[in-house]
Amino acid sequence: MKSGRALAVLVGGVFFLAVMSLYRMLDLMQGAEPQLRGEWSAGQFDQDLSRLRNKIDRLERLLVSNNRMVAMLRDSLHIHKQGGANKSAGSSHFQKESLPGCRLAQQKDSPASVQLLDVYDLLPFDNPDGGAWKQGFQISYQGNEWAEQPLELFLVPHSHNDPGWLKTFDGYYRDQTRHILDNMLLKLGEDSRRKMVWAEISYFSKWWNEIDEQKRAMVKRLVEAGQLEMVTGGWVMADEANSHYFALLDQLMEGHQWLQTHLGVKPSTGWAIDPFGHSPSMTYLLKGAGLRNMVIQRIHYAVKKHFASEKTLEFLWRQSWDSSHSSDITCHMMPFYSYDVPHTCGPNPAVCCQFDFYRLPGGRISCPWRIPPQPITERNVKERAHLLLDQYRQKSRLFRTPVLLVPLGDDFRYVESSEWDAQFNNYQKLFDYFDQHPELHIKARFGTLSDYFSALHRHLGAADSSLPTLSGDFFTYADRDDHYWSGYYTSRPFYKRLDRALETTLRATEILFSLTLAEMRRSHGDLVAGFPAREHFQRLVEGRRSLGLFQHHDGITGTGRDPVVVDYGTRLFHAILNLRQVQQSSAHWLLLLDKNQYQHDPSKPFLQTDDVIPAQDALPQKTPLVLSDEPRTLVVYNPTEQRRSSVVSVVVSSPDARVVDSETAQPMPVQISAVWVEPHQASSEAFQLSFIAELPPLSLTVYHVTKAPAGSTPRSSYVIHRHGNPPSVAAQHFQVSRLEAAEAAAQLTLSNKQLQLWSSAETGLLQMLRLSSGLVRRVQVKFLWYGTTTNRDKSGAYLFLPGQGGAQPYTSEPPLVRVSKGPIFSDITSCFKHVTHRVRLYHLEGHSGKSLEISNTVDIRAEVNRELVMRLESDVASGNRFHTDLNGFQMQERRTLEKLPLQANFYPMSSSSFLQDSLSRLTLLSAQSQAVASLHSGELEVVLDRRLQQDDNRGLGQGVTDNKLTGSLYHLLLEDRKAPQDVGGSSTDHLSLLAHLDSLSLCHPPITMFAQSNSQLPKLRPFLPLHSPLPCDIHLLNLRTLEREQEAGAPSQEVALLLHRKGFECSSAPEPPPQCTWSVHEEVNLDDLLSPLQFRSIRRSGLTLLRDHDEPARQPPPRLAKLRPMEIAAFRAVLD
Ligand SMILES: [Zn+2]
Repeated sequence: MKSGRALAVLVGGVFFLAVMSLYRMLDLMQGAEPQLRGEWSAGQFDQDLSRLRNKIDRLERLLVSNNRMVAMLRDSLHIHKQGGANKSAGSSHFQKESLPGCRLAQQKDSPASVQLLDVYDLLPFDNPDGGAWKQGFQISYQGNEWAEQPLELFLVPHSHNDPGWLKTFDGYYRDQTRHILDNMLLKLGEDSRRKMVWAEISYFSKWWNEIDEQKRAMVKRLVEAGQLEMVTGGWVMADEANSHYFALLDQLMEGHQWLQTHLGVKPSTGWAIDPFGHSPSMTYLLKGAGLRNMVIQRIHYAVKKHFASEKTLEFLWRQSWDSSHSSDITCHMMPFYSYDVPHTCGPNPAVCCQFDFYRLPGGRISCPWRIPPQPITERNVKERAHLLLDQYRQKSRLFRTPVLLVPLGDDFRYVESSEWDAQFNNYQKLFDYFDQHPELHIKARFGTLSDYFSALHRHLGAADSSLPTLSGDFFTYADRDDHYWSGYYTSRPFYKRLDRALETTLRATEILFSLTLAEMRRSHGDLVAGFPAREHFQRLVEGRRSLGLFQHHDGITGTGRDPVVVDYGTRLFHAILNLRQVQQSSAHWLLLLDKNQYQHDPSKPFLQTDDVIPAQDALPQKTPLVLSDEPRTLVVYNPTEQRRSSVVSVVVSSPDARVVDSETAQPMPVQISAVWVEPHQASSEAFQLSFIAELPPLSLTVYHVTKAPAGSTPRSSYVIHRHGNPPSVAAQHFQVSRLEAAEAAAQLTLSNKQLQLWSSAETGLLQMLRLSSGLVRRVQVKFLWYGTTTNRDKSGAYLFLPGQGGAQPYTSEPPLVRVSKGPIFSDITSCFKHVTHRVRLYHLEGHSGKSLEISNTVDIRAEVNRELVMRLESDVASGNRFHTDLNGFQMQERRTLEKLPLQANFYPMSSSSFLQDSLSRLTLLSAQSQAVASLHSGELEVVLDRRLQQDDNRGLGQGVTDNKLTGSLYHLLLEDRKAPQDVGGSSTDHLSLLAHLDSLSLCHPPITMFAQSNSQLPKLRPFLPLHSPLPCDIHLLNLRTLEREQEAGAPSQEVALLLHRKGFECSSAPEPPPQCTWSVHEEVNLDDLLSPLQFRSIRRSGLTLLRDHDEPARQPPPRLAKLRPMEIAAFRAVLD
C-alpha cells in the first residue's frame, strides 16, 4: 500500500516534470525568435503572422513527438525504480539558456594540465640548430643519476610492414613479409631472451593461412612466453587524419576478432610509429578496446623538443570533452626524428647508426653519417658499450623514470636470417657486458612494449608519482623546416571519396544483413535454406578487410605508388560490387510477402542498384529505367536510424512519369529535370525523375514508377546564361530562357521556406544567405589555385609547399551558368573549365530544407603543379579561430597562426568544419576527407584536388599525376546562435543537433534498387523494422554480424551493436524541431531502442567485442545502458 502510493507520487512527479519540460522547450524556442538583422526583412505585420504560424507549426510538431516523450517518461520511471540512478533526469538539465540534454555534452571538468592549443600559442617555431640532435638541444648528465635506481632498458625489435606503399600488399608479402615472419619463428625460437613486436594483422593473418599446424603451435608458444607481442592489433597501422571513426573502429575490430579466434590474445599496447600526425579519436577507440598504453612517433619537431625539455614525452592522453577521465590512456611519444635505429638509441644519429648491425660494412645499406657499425668483439666491447650507454643515458634524461624504451627496427627489417643474427648476437654481447659491470648501473635486455610499460608503471607506482595529462591532437605534422605534411589531407581525392562510398555501403549492408538473419530466425526458426548466408557473410568480411586495408597510412592518405593506388582502388571497387549483391539479395528476401518465392540466382538478381560503376577509377553512372504503362518496382532503403524526407532521383526514359507508394497507392510529389550531356545540351532520351520519399528508419520502401500522360509531370525550368557569349541551348522537353540584359546585371536568387540565397549572375557563385529567422550572412564562393614554391623542395604527395604568393584567383572564360527551378529542388550550376559547381536547395519541410547542397566535379588533369581550392568568404566574425572534426568523431578548435607558414595552417577535415561568432555559425559538412583552412577571419577553404609533377623526398619516388574526374559533396548550414558565448579560451565545442542530423543524411544517402523484370512480379511489402526513430543524438554506428566460433567463415547469431551518443552544443535549438527527440539523461533504454525488435540477450563489451571484455550475462537482459554524450558503446547481442 505504502509503496503503491509512493509509486503514484513518483509517476505524478515525473509526469509533472515532463509537462514542465514541454513548456520549457516551447519557451526556449520562443526565446530563439528571430531578431531583425537583415535589410531584407518583410513588414512587421507579415512577420508577426508568420511567427504565429511558426508557433502553431511547432506546437503541432511537439504533439507529434509526444509519443517519444511518453517513452522518455517510461525511461525516467524505470530509472527511479532502479534506485534513482539518474538524478540528471530532473530539472537540473533544463537550464534556461541551454537546450535540454546538451549541457551534459558541454560539461567541463578540471582541464588537462597540457592543452596542445596553448602549446602552439607558446612555441616560437624558430627551429634553431640543436647540434648533434639537430631539432633538439644538448643533453647533459652527471653520471650518478642512476646510482640509486639503475637504468632499466628495453630494446624492442620491430619491423614496420606497410600493407602497400612502393609495392602492393601482395607484392610486399611475397618479397619480404612472409620471410620476416618465417625467420621470426626460427630466430625467436633459438633463444628465449629474444623478443619482437608485430602490428599489422592483415599480413599476419595472410601468413597464418599459409603455415601448418606445427608452426601455428610455435607462434602460440612464443606469444604465451611473452617473446612475441601483438601490438595495437588493427588490420593496419591506420592513418589518423583522413580516416573516419567507423572505419578506424572496424579495422581494429577485424584485427582483434582475428587475434581472439586464432591466438586467443588481446592487445594491451598501441604502436603507431608511422602515421603522419596523431588523433585523440584513435586513442579513444584504443582505450575502449581495452588497451592501456600506446606509443606515437610522427609529431611536429618543435612540439617534441618542447615536450622533451618539459619531460612530458610520457603523458595521460585525455579526451578534451571527457570529464570522467575514463578515456585516459598512457602515451609515450618518441623524442627524435624517426623510428629507425639512428634516431632511437639516443640524440646523436651518427652514434646510434653504428648500433644498427644491419648496416655492417659489406651489407646492403650503410650509415649516411659515414661511421660504420663494428661487429662487437672482446676487443672493442668496452668502448662500444660505453659509447652506446652514453646515448642511452642522454635519452633517459628526457623522461621522468629510469625506465627506457629503445625500438630496434625499421621498414621491412629482419627479412634474412643473417640480419637476425647480426642484430641479436651483437646486442646480446653488449647486454652481457653491461651485466658484468654493475658499476655502469644499467640493466639492458630485449623487450616487448608490455615489458616496458609494466616496468614504467611499476616505477611510477613506487615513486607514487603520476604522468601529466594532455588533451588535443597532433596535427599538422612537420618533420623538418617548413615541411608540413598537409598535402596528404587531399592527395588522391578520388579514392578518399571512394573510401567513404565503401564505408556507407558497408555499414548499410551490415545492418540489412543482420536484420535479415534475425528476421529469418524469428519467422522460420533458422536461416532459410536457399539464402546464401555464408557466401554473403564472406562478402561482408571481404568488404571489412578491403576498407580496413585502405585505412593504412599509405592508403587513404594517397601516398602510394600509382600501381599500388590502382590495387587499392580495385579492392574498394570490388568490395562495393560484392556488398551490393548482399544488399540486393537481403532486400529481396525481406520484401517478399511469400518467402517461399525466394530464389537466389546470381546471374539474374531480382533487384539491381540504379547505378553502374564502370571501373575502379570512374564515377558512378545512373542506369536509365525504361518506363511503360506497366509499373516498374523501385525499392528505397534508408540506412539511417532516423525517419527522413529524402529526394530520390533516378534516370528514366520518359519526360513524364508517376511514382506511387506501393502500399498506399499515394502518388508522390515528383519533378522531371534534364540530364545534361553537355553544359548546354540536354539528353532527349534520358530524364531525371526526382520524388520526395518519406522513409522510416532502416526501412525498405517500395514504389511503382509508370509512364505518365504527356505534359502531366512538373518539369524544371531553366535559365541559361554566359557572360558575353550566350550559348545555343538544346533542350527540347524543357522550358529554357535567357537572361535579359538588365537581369544579367542583377543577382540570381533561390529560396525555400527556410532559406534564401543570392548568387552572381555572371558566375553563378553564391554570394549571400538569409535564414527565415532574419539572419543574413555574406557567404561568397570562390575558386583559387595554389602553385608550388620555386625552391628546391616542392609540393608532393605528402607535403604542401605553396610558396610565398599564396593562392591566386581562378580565372577562366566566363562560365556557363544554368539556373533550374522546380517544385522539389532548384539549383544553380556553374560550368567552369576545371570544375562544375552546383548549389542546390531542396524544397523540403523540416530540417532537410535548412542546408544548401554543394557539389563539385573537378578535372585538373591538364594542369602542372597546381592545386584547386574552393573558398567560402563570409562576414562571420570568427577571428583566427575555427573548428574541424577529427575522424568524424569529435570537433577540435583550430587557431590560424601567422607565425607559422601557410601550409601549417591546413588541417584534415573528414566530415565537418565550422566558423562562428556570437550570433551565427556557418558549418560546412563534408562527405569526404580533404584539407581545410581558415586563413582569414570568416574564411573557410577546402583543397579539392592537387596535381604535382615531382617527388617530395619522403621515399615515394614519384609525384601525383594520376588525377581523375573527381566528385565532392557538401552541405552548407547557416545557423543562429542563441547564447552569445565567450569565444576566448580553448573550448570543446560540438556540432549542433541539426548539423549532426544533416551530416547523417549527407553521408548515408538512401539506396535505390529496382526490380529487373516487369511481368509477374511476386507481391512485395515494405520492410519497416522499427516503430520509431532512435533518439536524435544516438547514432547506430553498426549492427555487425559476428563470426561463428565453431565454424570459420559462417555468421553467428550474435551481432555487435555499436551505438554512438553524439555530443551536441547548446547555443542553437533545431528550428524547426526534428521529428526525433533526445534523451536528457545518461541512460539508453535498450527495450525501446530498436522496438519492436527485442534482444534475447544483450551485454556490454569492449569496443572490439573481445570475450574478455564482456560484462557478465544477466537474465533478463538489462533494460538500460549508460551512454554519456560522446561515448561509443558496444554490445554483444542476439536479436529475437
Ligand atoms: Zn609506414
